[in-house]
This record gives sequence, C-alpha cells and structure tokens, in this order.
Amino acid sequence: MRALRFHGPGELRLEDVADPRPSPDTVVISVMACGVCGSDLHFLDGTARTGHVPITLGHEIAGVIDDPASSGLRPGIAVVVTVGASCGSCRRCSEGRPNLCESATVIGIHADGGLADAVSVPVAAVVPIPTGVEPAAAATAVDAGATALHAVTRTAALQPGETVLVIGLGGLGTYAAQIARNLGAARVIAADIDPAALDRAALLGADDCVLVEAGGSLGRSVKMLTDGGVDVALEFVGRAATVDAAVKSIRPGGRAVAVGVGPEPLVTLPPVLWSNFEYTLRGSYGSLPGDTERVLAGLADGSLQSPPLARATLAEAADAILSLSRGESPAMGRLMVIP
Ligand SMILES: [Zn+2]
Ligand SMILES: [Zn+2]
Repeated sequence: MRALRFHGPGELRLEDVADPRPSPDTVVISVMACGVCGSDLHFLDGTARTGHVPITLGHEIAGVIDDPASSGLRPGIAVVVTVGASCGSCRRCSEGRPNLCESATVIGIHADGGLADAVSVPVAAVVPIPTGVEPAAAATAVDAGATALHAVTRTAALQPGETVLVIGLGGLGTYAAQIARNLGAARVIAADIDPAALDRAALLGADDCVLVEAGGSLGRSVKMLTDGGVDVALEFVGRAATVDAAVKSIRPGGRAVAVGVGPEPLVTLPPVLWSNFEYTLRGSYGSLPGDTERVLAGLADGSLQSPPLARATLAEAADAILSLSRGESPAMGRLMVIP
C-alpha cells in the first residue's frame, strides 16, 4: 500500500510499504480521510519531533473497518480513531488525566499513522461515526474538536454568561467558538490575522470579530470592547505574542488558556500584575475519553459544524503539506487527505 513517510524536517515522501496487519488488540482500517494538524507542520519545520523516523504521519483518521479479526467490530462500518492510547496505570492515568499519560502512544507520532491507504489502530481507540456525518468532517472531531472541547469545558471551565475570546480561528478555534456559544457564553469574540477566518467565525455565531494587524494591540482592543477584559481567553496559535495577547485580554480574576504549540519562550506581564489581578494562565493538552463522542454527536445533531475542509489526494498530499509548513498557503481550511 501507499504511505506518506516522514524522514525528518522538510522530508515527506509517498512510498510503497507493507500492508498493516491486525493483532489481538488492533484492527486494520481502510483510510477514507486523514486530517493534517498543526503538530504535523511542526514536525516538518523541525520544531517538534516524532517518536522515530521514518514514520507515517497522520492522527486525525476516519475510515472503514477492514479486517475485524478478533476485534468483534463489524467489517465495513465507518469509524474515527481517537488520538492517543494511554497506558492506564501511570500516575497521570490514575489521576484521571490520561491525556497527560507518561507513556501514551499516538498513532501518527509514535506509530505509523493515517496518511496512507490503511492503518492499524488499537481496538479501544475506534469510535463509530454517527449516521449522516461525512467521514472527513468526522475525522476533525478526534483532534481539533475534542481538544477544543477539553480546553473550553475543563481547562477554562467556561460558565454560562461568561465572555470568551478565541485567538486563531483554524480547526480548533472554529470548534472552540461554537462550543463556547453552545455552552451559553454571553459573548464570543473571535480574533485572527485572516479576514476570511473571521467571516467564517461570524457565520458560526461569533458575536465580535477582531482583525489582528501588525503593530496593533489585541489586548487593548478586547479590553475596550468588553469594558475591562474577557472572563476567558483561549489561544490556538502557539506563538509567544498570541499567548501574551490572551493574557492581556482577560479581566482581573480572568483565565487565559494556551492550547497552540510552539517553541518560543513566553515574555508577558510582570509578577506584580499577576499578583494584583489574580490572573490565571493554564496550558491545555489533548482530550479525555468521551470527548470525541460528544463532538461527533454535535456534528450529527447540527449543533457543531466542522471547520471548512480543503482536500488533497495521497499523491498530492506531500506538496500540499510541505507548502502549508512553509506558510505558503494559509486560509484554505483544514487540509484533509483523501487517499
Ligand atoms: Zn494534532
Ligand atoms: Zn498512563
């Protein structure tokens, strides 16, 4: 079969590899769609690392059960694959935080992923796609959707009636704005450098859209809009400047949540302001069991919409992904590879 193999920064090649085989704990899935995530781009630009190389990337997977072997799953059913198999026994897993498992295995980061004709995945990671949800849209639920759900509902612990700022309206931010709206946020403010991303956010229910311009101060704009700052600011970009903007957008006692991944060290407010205003900055990573199912249910009942999707075939994918990692083709929506 064909697989998109990552050999190191900037090196992505479509190659012929052996077909994956099922084992007692795994099942083989024929890939129908696999999303390309910001973390894939960070592997390609050298700011994040996979478990080993070469490896097949891709951790936002939808497909059909191919070889049910011992899994008990019906062949031909459409499923998505949740991100990250936790060990169940380390300290973090025992604390109920399997997203922080000390020895998690993520398909597409530590084991061969879904940018291929087929992939072998743990039986426990498989979640059926509800009727009526398109596979490519369903695939976005496992990472973009579930990560946003965890960040909004648990890390930020958003309450009805609160005001929310979402910075970065890509896949995760688009979900986060909708989840905040559905939870009863009093006001959802979307901020992005891309006017098209803001237009989409407005259609999905953002109350205010702030175009972030070079040299401008997002924090100052948000504080003017909200008479002193939002209750919750969520950052989905992974840049030091945008985390700083999130911190500078919250009211006294407010919470900023950093979800985007990036290598830049953070320089922000002096300690006296953290102390005087009891600001909170928390990181948020991945999701917990059940989150993917909740996002899929939202896609099925229409309360959530997937981010706009751009599509490429497996043959076109290497060029499309490398161009994304070089920042050459922004604003095209979440790239889905359809083998
Ligand atoms: Zn991801
Ligand atoms: Zn663990």
